[in-house]
Amino acid sequence: MTAAQFLLLVCMIAVFSVVFVKLKRRWFERKPFPSEWQRILASNIPIYKRLPQALQAQLNNHVKYFMRDKTFYGCDGLVLTDEIKVTIAGQACLLILNRPTNQYFKLHHVLVYPSSFVASRSEQSASGVVSHKKTGLLGESWSQGKVILSWDDVFKGVKNFSDGQNVVLHEFAHQLDQESGSTNGAPLLGSQSSYQSWTRVLSSEFERLQKQANSGFSSLIDQYGATNPAEFFAVVTETFFERPVQLRRRHPELFEEMKTFYAVDPSEWID
Ligand SMILES: [Zn+2]
Repeated sequence: MTAAQFLLLVCMIAVFSVVFVKLKRRWFERKPFPSEWQRILASNIPIYKRLPQALQAQLNNHVKYFMRDKTFYGCDGLVLTDEIKVTIAGQACLLILNRPTNQYFKLHHVLVYPSSFVASRSEQSASGVVSHKKTGLLGESWSQGKVILSWDDVFKGVKNFSDGQNVVLHEFAHQLDQESGSTNGAPLLGSQSSYQSWTRVLSSEFERLQKQANSGFSSLIDQYGATNPAEFFAVVTETFFERPVQLRRRHPELFEEMKTFYAVDPSEWID
């Protein structure tokens, strides 16, 4: 075989590979969405039925990929069911509607406990003393491809979709944040001007929440968000999807930043 023939063969293999991947993707997306999954989304995620039809179809498509590509593990004896997996996948995929997405490419495993789970933590004080403590958690997001959730709390969080408390939205917002390489409340935004505006608005709102927390005032945004900028972004994500009308009225600039980032306006989905 001459060098030219070899080069031609390599090019043909490359072209066929691209075509094959595209066909496989099209075939996968044309497979009907299981009716049982549709039923679970409609009965367990109140916001699902209020989504415009095009967004519902988009969400179904994302859920199909999520269910195919992420591995779920039941922990502490929890027997995994489609209800558990689809209820988690459906909420996680709300965050990637209308956005250029790689479907949580860093995430591989979703671990689900029956209820809140205990995690060991080590902390080092300024004087260098390391202490260990055990903490009860509802959820946890790891940068090494793992989200851990308590099913009890997932279910409670999604059934009340207007209290601004949702552990799945919270942990998957951390996953988006972690895609930038560090967990700092600044996910990948796309352009320099987006970062300038994001930093200005989120910094000032974060400081405002810290002041409210320190002075004992109540706030729309859960004051756990005052812990650090990463928690602030995760908590505001919960508020944005669950209490969008209130967030738009009381924090208009913050609402606009979140609306631009998530590329949806959940205030339009309210009855
Ligand atoms: Zn968090």
